[in-house]
Amino acid sequence: MRELICITCPRGCHLKVDEIRKVVTGNFCKRGEIYGLNEVISPKRVVTSTVKIEGASINLLPVRTNKPIAKELIMDVIKELRSITVKAPIHVNDVIIKNIFGSDVDIIATREL
Ligand code: SF4
Repeated sequence: MRELICITCPRGCHLKVDEIRKVVTGNFCKRGEIYGLNEVISPKRVVTSTVKIEGASINLLPVRTNKPIAKELIMDVIKELRSITVKAPIHVNDVIIKNIFGSDVDIIATREL
């Protein structure tokens, strides 16, 4: 049994997740059940970071994943982002890296530079 706090909304329900039977209790709504099961079975997070940029007014471009990515890939994603340099101009939502590590998740720009 895992105990978690649902972070999907400010209510912060205290969840108990039975990992074997795949049952969630303590959730006020369905979103808590989905969150609890995902968190135990395959936890994911949105990653925000920066990459180096050339030809812009500042040296770092803010980026993020376009959707949550498996937690076990996060350190590899950060290392990859540190290793690349993009060239201006870049627009909001431009794809910086498509399908990073075959995850079906893209790295996108969050600022115009
Ligand atoms: S279970 Fe529902 S109501 Fe409770 S914190 Fe999660 S999203 Fe909010």
